[in-house]
Amino acid sequence: MDANQRKAMQGVVKETLENLEKNAFRAAFVNDRNELLTLIASLIPEGAVTASGGSETLLETGVMEWIKTHTDYRTERKEAYGADFYLTSANAVTRHGELFEVDGRSNRVSAMLFGPENVIAIAGINKLVPNLRAAAERVKTMAAPPNCIRLAKDTPCAKTGHCVFPDFSDVHLSAQGCASPDRICSNHVIFSRQMVKDRIMVIIVGEEYGY
Ligand code: SF4
Repeated sequence: MDANQRKAMQGVVKETLENLEKNAFRAAFVNDRNELLTLIASLIPEGAVTASGGSETLLETGVMEWIKTHTDYRTERKEAYGADFYLTSANAVTRHGELFEVDGRSNRVSAMLFGPENVIAIAGINKLVPNLRAAAERVKTMAAPPNCIRLAKDTPCAKTGHCVFPDFSDVHLSAQGCASPDRICSNHVIFSRQMVKDRIMVIIVGEEYGY
């Protein structure tokens, strides 16, 4: 992203942050991974109980390494529900201030929905989309194929690089796709206006991370 694209993106980021806050999320922007790690260190006390969903973004930004070395990091999935902080990434963040998350087994989305006192969802600038239709398309075209490859899933998209069902009209927004037992895009969760204000914090990073 060059300087002009970055400037244009600032307006999108501002609108997205404002709408996230209107929807009772806590929202923040950091320029890069160094600022992100500084912010994370200011939010999570040393020794706090943490857990995370599988995330390329957490690995690439160094957040995963940070929580493993500075907190009481739990790997047992069911322990995540009692964590002080649950960390994950976003599959997409809409300009209207919604989080769009897609999961297979759904330990990740279930912990985001209920349990941990605090949830921190990190999104690279590449995860910002105009609306939910674009979010659904993003997952099927840009997130699921590389994630299936990363996780060694036996799905059509892991072999061809695209979903078997490339129709993202409103009628077929999320439900369509393959019938593979390994399918990872099973449950599609839209986090819209929150009942518990500021429980979920969304941090947008001005760099591209994850799928
Ligand atoms: S429905 Fe199947 S083929 Fe399509 S993106 Fe999901 S896992 Fe891949």
